[in-house]
Amino acid sequence: MKHENGSRNERKCLIALRGLVGRTPMLAIRCKVDAHELTVYVKHEVTNFTGSIKDRMALHILSDAYTTGAIRPGHVIAEATSGNTGISFAAIGRALGHPVRIYMPDWMSRERVLVIQSLGAQVIPISAEEGGFRGSIAAADAYAEKQGNVFLPHQFESSSNVQAHYRTTGPEILAQMRSLGVEPRAFVAGVGTGGTVMGVGRYLREQLSEVQIHPLEPANSPTLRTGCRVGKHRIQGISDEFIPPIVKLASLDAIVDVWDGDAILMAQKLASQLGLGVGISSGANFIGALKVAQELGSNAPVATVFADSNKKYLSTDLVSDEPTGPEFLSPKVELLDFHVVPGRL
Ligand code: PMP
Repeated sequence: MKHENGSRNERKCLIALRGLVGRTPMLAIRCKVDAHELTVYVKHEVTNFTGSIKDRMALHILSDAYTTGAIRPGHVIAEATSGNTGISFAAIGRALGHPVRIYMPDWMSRERVLVIQSLGAQVIPISAEEGGFRGSIAAADAYAEKQGNVFLPHQFESSSNVQAHYRTTGPEILAQMRSLGVEPRAFVAGVGTGGTVMGVGRYLREQLSEVQIHPLEPANSPTLRTGCRVGKHRIQGISDEFIPPIVKLASLDAIVDVWDGDAILMAQKLASQLGLGVGISSGANFIGALKVAQELGSNAPVATVFADSNKKYLSTDLVSDEPTGPEFLSPKVELLDFHVVPGRL
């Protein structure tokens, strides 16, 4: 029996996928910074369907699109992305039976291309001469215009992206922290599309009027501060070449800057000392949360996310010797242990 938007099978599949996306564990990580003990509260997004926080966004955008009829069975999903988003749309799109086309700059790591292809999606490489990241967005749009029957998630401007975190990540953070007898004084998250910081931020602000919401970006390449691409950085997944339309800086607290080398050293430390094999943006988020916690003082509880694992960064500086820098915080961090608040029963 066909429903108006999407068949019974797609609806069943969306419900099944909801069982594999979100409701992630929270890690309460104890550490010492300059002899002061601190606990950072971190959503371990590595446990999502494809191993990253972007599954929340992809599932939510597709779910909403089925509801509105913007996507129908047989439509091609076409998105420009350089990483986790491509993996999420490939896996979730294929699970729902859609052909998936991922447009990405041609200098992205081979692992990324192979993972996306192995999930049954087509990768369309876009060279620097063709416009790199911006060129990828334009190429996906041009394909949709020419072809028809194409669904463009447009994650950078999608309100469903923000809603995914408003409806799931935000409430989970508050409930899990409350189960430990604390409430967040601040939330910090590196900005890729800004979906995480805007959605979690809106939810927490509605619940706790005093909570601070801090976007984070690489100190080497401050896109949010400048509005454009300046310099280079190695924190893949955050700070692209522009301020995404869904990011409303005026509604947020101060931007937190983290050096990419500091993020790499912190991610290495989390892996080698606590066994938490996380990606570079997770190292950055942990440093950012510590900086905000230090500013707030008196053991203020600060929350953040580990967006993905270290597996996609095995050909990057994450697994090389990284020199320390004068302003780095990671060398001063002594990791003690962590406690887990389960996300599921
Ligand atoms: N870290 C990683 C590894 C990511 O892939 C992303 C998404 N691009 C982010 C952080 C940022 O998430 P958001 O798009 O919600 O700002």
